[in-house]
Amino acid sequence: MNDELKRRDRAVNWHPYTQMKTAGDALPIVKGKGVYLYDETGKKYIDAVSSWWVTLHGHAHPYIAQRVGEQLNTLEQVIFAGFTHEPAIKLSENLLNLLPEKQQKVFYSDNGSTAVEVALKMCIQYAYNRGTKKSRVLALKNAYHGDTFGAMAVSGRSIWTQPFGDMLFDVTFIDTPSTQNLENLKSQIDHFADEIACFIYEPLVQGAAGMLMYPPEPLSELMKFCREKKIVMIQDEIFTGFGRTGKLFATQYLAEQPDIMCFSKGLTGGTMPLGITTCSDEIYQAFLSDDKYKTLFHGHSFTANPLACTAALASLELLLKEETQQSIRQIVKEHESFAKTLEKHPLVQCVRQTGTILAWELKTENKTSYFNEVGRRVYDAFLRKGILTRPLGNVLYLVPPYCTTKDELRFVYDNTIEVLNDFE
Ligand SMILES: *Cc1c(COP(=O)(O)O)cnc(C)c1O
Repeated sequence: MNDELKRRDRAVNWHPYTQMKTAGDALPIVKGKGVYLYDETGKKYIDAVSSWWVTLHGHAHPYIAQRVGEQLNTLEQVIFAGFTHEPAIKLSENLLNLLPEKQQKVFYSDNGSTAVEVALKMCIQYAYNRGTKKSRVLALKNAYHGDTFGAMAVSGRSIWTQPFGDMLFDVTFIDTPSTQNLENLKSQIDHFADEIACFIYEPLVQGAAGMLMYPPEPLSELMKFCREKKIVMIQDEIFTGFGRTGKLFATQYLAEQPDIMCFSKGLTGGTMPLGITTCSDEIYQAFLSDDKYKTLFHGHSFTANPLACTAALASLELLLKEETQQSIRQIVKEHESFAKTLEKHPLVQCVRQTGTILAWELKTENKTSYFNEVGRRVYDAFLRKGILTRPLGNVLYLVPPYCTTKDELRFVYDNTIEVLNDFE
């Protein structure tokens, strides 16, 4: 292979979550089509992690491309303060139609982290505008809500947040709810319920923590308790939204509903950055006032970019097609049967699945750590076989785009077993 692109990349680019000194060269990709990515030599890689969990319908989807192309030639961008446009109106209408009744208003931003920032600011100012001071935030241990400062503060403290520790606001972290600890959690929260501005959580799946999963019932119970205590709830569906959990949104597994929801990642089918924070009418009403200081003073240059909104509209259309729903169900079913095979493998433990997300752990002495070098070796082994994965330490997972066929799944499963068999 001609290494020209690799050389030029190394000269100028600083990659995310990458120790540039020890990392291998970034692999130049020149084309994407469906479930495949292509390098310069024409070698194809099956994208088994939806390019960091964003791609829903495959790469370079012709319908999304067509719709975005038309929009690009009509209106590419306009300031969203004082102006509006059809794609943003239609997307808000369509999304709200799919969400629980409680969600009534849409606030646009650019990515998952900003969607979380907006949600947090809404909650803090909601209390402020009502003349109360609530400064405590409740979050789950091992949470991940993004990399900007506010989002980082509500994420579990880890090696990633360590250099910034002193600058992150205080957050009370509680265990993920289970039938066993539920009463304990309630009494913990009860002590300072009046001080809590909000409770933020990833429903059912804590992705970045290593695809940790927990059941909906105790979460619903905890939410019910928060509702009674008037604690505002932020549900981060940035990863779990748009079909990932087998239902359109994880919220459909829950008996109680949040006040605020965050979306990004699959929102545009993974084609473009866009973030959305939705909220209840009650939250929204607290910002309506003749007093200008009660305004939510937040916005980004590209708020509600028409191209990104159009991509999201096209992606939603594809997502709701019976054909897509059918293939989501197929992935869930195929994962279920592969999980049984995986469970029997001597190197595998803790196989878990929520919808289209299948994860398992490799047995290693050195327990789950992001820096576990096992991950790197497995990553390389998969890549050689033409499969893109991205292990989280010793946690391996598959999060395929919904267009992945049965044969393509089979290819990934078979190679997974081969990689495991070759290991050590
Ligand atoms: C990825 C992710 C985020 C952050 O989104 P970015 O677009 O990467 O900033 C926030 N919350 C959850 C649950 C995520 O998975």
